[in-house]
Amino acid sequence: MTTQTHIAVENPATGEVIGHVDDMTAQEVGELARRARAAQPGWEAMGFDGRARILKRMQRWLTDNADKVITTICAETGKAYEDAQIAELSYGAAAFGFWADKAPKYLADERIRSSAIFVKGKRLVLRYRPVGVVGVIGPWNYPLTNSFGDCIPALAAGNSVILKPSEITPLTSLLLAEGLAECGLPDDVFAVATGCGPTGAAVLDEVDMIMFTGSTATGRKVAMRAAERLIPASLELGGKDPMIVLADANIERAANHAAYYSMFNCGQTCISIERCYVEAPVYDDFVARVTEKVRAIRQGVPAGPGSIDVGSLTFPPQVDTVERHVDEARDRGATVLTGGHRGPDKGYWYEPTVLVGVDHDMACMREETFGPTLPIMKVADAEEAIRMANDSEYGLSAAVFSRDLKRGEAVARRLNAGAVTVNDALINYTALELPMGGAKPGSGVGHRHGPGGIRKYCRQQSLLISRFNPRRDIHMHPYKATRTRLLGRLLAILNRGVS
Ligand code: NDP
Repeated sequence: MTTQTHIAVENPATGEVIGHVDDMTAQEVGELARRARAAQPGWEAMGFDGRARILKRMQRWLTDNADKVITTICAETGKAYEDAQIAELSYGAAAFGFWADKAPKYLADERIRSSAIFVKGKRLVLRYRPVGVVGVIGPWNYPLTNSFGDCIPALAAGNSVILKPSEITPLTSLLLAEGLAECGLPDDVFAVATGCGPTGAAVLDEVDMIMFTGSTATGRKVAMRAAERLIPASLELGGKDPMIVLADANIERAANHAAYYSMFNCGQTCISIERCYVEAPVYDDFVARVTEKVRAIRQGVPAGPGSIDVGSLTFPPQVDTVERHVDEARDRGATVLTGGHRGPDKGYWYEPTVLVGVDHDMACMREETFGPTLPIMKVADAEEAIRMANDSEYGLSAAVFSRDLKRGEAVARRLNAGAVTVNDALINYTALELPMGGAKPGSGVGHRHGPGGIRKYCRQQSLLISRFNPRRDIHMHPYKATRTRLLGRLLAILNRGVS
């Protein structure tokens, strides 16, 4: 029996309800999966070229409908127009082109050479086949990039996809599903399962592979269920990403990066700068510059291009988390240099905040804050900075600033993070050729982007193809034929060895 209810979607910057979506039951998800499974062979049979035509049309559709897409993202996330334009729309448009072009290369048959004597002269091939139906479960911070974005390589590989967006931000996914249909994607190849956690759990129970992005706690539940079902899971989880500023860094550049990439998307980015370690000689200068820059940030309700720098928080409970981290740090002796308060009653707000006098006993240095805060800690030298940066259950991303590129790279190589930038931050995510994923279990298992970012949506099949020799094979008893051939081969190799 279906007992469907509806979920109200709010604009978190204003508190207004902007739409309703179905809270899908397990039975409804089962029906989506049945249809997706029936549609998949036809989609696979269209081949790379047939699929690429549709993906490229969708790339065009995204740019033609840019304003509509950005407005929808801003309305359901409360983020600034530029945050949606730069980190979502342009990512999506680039990704459609990238996976359409790269899928045939990354998934091409590979000719394998073997040193095994019994397979000499035979053709050995490794091929990639789509798994069938892929489930993508995504978070609310980037509804296009981190939720829908993972569907693109899965589709390019020839899978059907069921996307379960966060209940907080489902409207972007529904709009993009309309776009795919307009671009000629065959019916049922892509479906959006709107709903809460149980809908995500139902998706997990139906699919052949799961791609999950979200918190470490939910990721653990997803991994356990995937293990029970023996399906592959790729998990992109939390981060507590450190930035290290060495004494020889260009301090203005480092301060700009710290201010911009800690507050980008109101700090709700898995690879945002969450904590900073600065060598003592440049600490005061760095802190003064960062504080001035963060104080100048314009926060408010997004109202088109250039209207604000930083919007609201997206997920209501996040305001409490941010407040808890700042209050606890203050109670333990930290100083708030700017910000440090919740915003107005309407919507979900916390001010851009800079904290100093922090240490590793504080939640703001250990737990993912996922908000507009930057705690900065003074360190004696690079060794202490590396030790502190690595003192975390997370290992997603990190940044090092130094004018000495060799030294910067040497420090980067000692950080236990999946992706490290030197004199930069976050933009590595736009290089879709470069794999991105966690280096420690708290930040996930698996990668997106690069060849592995599409091969994970495939099963490997290895082929061994022997030539048929009518003279030898037809008239002999099959057992004798095989034995003779193997012995002949062995003798030939031994003879070669003694000559
Ligand atoms: P959650 O883990 O709370 O939720 C993620 C998704 O899982 C949502 O769609 C949620 O549905 C769904 N879900 C909840 N319970 C279950 C369940 N039992 N089974 C299956 N699905 C379930 O994460 P958030 O949405 O709060 O996202 C923020 C987190 O995501 C942060 O920790 C951030 O670091 C991480 N993140 C990681 C990224 C990376 O690349 N490593 C990128 C972006 C974010 P619903 O929302 O409806 O409850």
